[in-house]
Amino acid sequence: MTEAVSVKKLTHFINGELVEGKSNNYSKVYNPTTGEVIAEVPIATAEETREAIAAAKAAFPAWRDLSVAKRAEVLMRFRFLLTENMEQLLDIICTESGKTLEDARGEVTRALESVDLAIGAPHLVKGEYSVNVGGQINAYSAKYPLGVVAAISPFNFPIMVPLAQTSMAVAVGNAVILKASEKVPMTSLFVSELWKKAGLPDGIWTVVNGSKDAVNELLENPTVQAISFVGSTPVAKYIYETGSKYGKRVTALGGGKNNMVVMPDADLEQVANAFIGAAYGAASQRCMAISTIMPVGEETADRLVAILKEKISNLKVGSYKEEGTDFGPVISKESKENILKAIDLAERQGATVVVDGRELDIVKNAEGFFVGPTLLDNITKEMEIFDEEVFGPARNVVRVSTLSEAIDFINGQDLANGVTIFTNDGAAARKFTTEIDVGMVGVNVPIPIPVGYHNFAGFKGSRFGEGHMFGPDQARFFTKTKTVSERWPDTKETTASTFAFPSNN
Ligand code: NAD
Repeated sequence: MTEAVSVKKLTHFINGELVEGKSNNYSKVYNPTTGEVIAEVPIATAEETREAIAAAKAAFPAWRDLSVAKRAEVLMRFRFLLTENMEQLLDIICTESGKTLEDARGEVTRALESVDLAIGAPHLVKGEYSVNVGGQINAYSAKYPLGVVAAISPFNFPIMVPLAQTSMAVAVGNAVILKASEKVPMTSLFVSELWKKAGLPDGIWTVVNGSKDAVNELLENPTVQAISFVGSTPVAKYIYETGSKYGKRVTALGGGKNNMVVMPDADLEQVANAFIGAAYGAASQRCMAISTIMPVGEETADRLVAILKEKISNLKVGSYKEEGTDFGPVISKESKENILKAIDLAERQGATVVVDGRELDIVKNAEGFFVGPTLLDNITKEMEIFDEEVFGPARNVVRVSTLSEAIDFINGQDLANGVTIFTNDGAAARKFTTEIDVGMVGVNVPIPIPVGYHNFAGFKGSRFGEGHMFGPDQARFFTKTKTVSERWPDTKETTASTFAFPSNN
């Protein structure tokens, strides 16, 4: 592997400044397309994380006390700066993640949706008011910010997920600490500078780079009130259990194993196109990527696999800089090795390799972390690949006889992020949407990812805790509701003590 001649030393972003790491412990950041080391990111110690939390705590009261409309103005300026700096932003995202330009652009668009929703925070934090609930007493319930809150992000959406986790938190008056993915830290550092230019007060948006030590400090530190985590299921479970033990509000979104059910009446040409984009886009490194196609009936399966074989064999894997690239590399050498091992194992366990992504020249010879598109047929419940998330372009065909069998298979899986059905039969679609136990459901749409103003989250092993990412639920998650009863009597008469339970009669 070639090491770049000059490797950039990255920083944290604490109290409005790019701050050098003190630990002398750095993690390498790669350009996955070339395999080169492009930067080194500091790994924060617990002590550095504590200092960042303290700065956020000090900044919080003034931000909380600013009117919600003034806070929204900062977000409006931030949104403008994101679009104004789009080209630089896309370049950073593509370089550190290996995404194609088109994919990165789509990601930024979805990130902007989260900012848009947060700009509407004044509407989402409106309270409730009742007059005369007792003699001269009015009562209101209002949403107040929590204080210092933390977000811990995965590598696969360097901007969309961090902004989905944090925009609303900032808008409703919290001070936010982001523990960005150490694999793609440059995007968050760039975004930090845009927050500052937008006029966000120092200490309200912090980026602490690092791994377990920083995360554990965020989980244990009593100042941190809430944790929003997005990443793999084992880590999500750990974050949920540990954060909850320390009394924090936690939402932890995990991995996905997302199925596409194909009824015999569906247009298979259209299904194939929908599947290929949803399954292989971003080298399948999306929590909502379709992992498995489930044709109902042998005839549907045979026809569909024949169409898919031809189309998938023609996909172009390569650099985001090359015209016509369908998808780029996976994030790391380790990830590539794990994906290739999962394909080998499935083949040994009896899967039919319809398209073999191990065989491409770019996979065998390039320095970048490429894996070709792979389609594995005749996957059964007994094989590991049936229900384990493979975060790369190895996709399954599971053949089923009936819609009920498809629903049973899917409901038996632990990961329950997204699912979709392709059919022209309304009754089949209705049965599917009613009986399926998955958080986000599509009918004739390839990736049922909700738009930014709807709530986003899976079920079971795909989400621990009750909160959602995106959507109005964000405003609830990052605020606490206080109910105030106030009496301003118009006489100076002294009232006697009452020893009975207060009642409004
Ligand atoms: P990951 O779980 O390895 O890492 C996520 C974050 O947790 C990173 O910031 C990382 O530094 C930190 N982390 C990792 N191990 C830790 C540990 N032992 N203790 C404390 N912190 C730790 O996930 P990833 O590889 O960065 O991202 C890919 C995963 O994220 C996939 O499983 C994907 O499905 C999932 N994901 C889920 C969603 C969703 O909305 N459900 C969205 C995007 C990604």
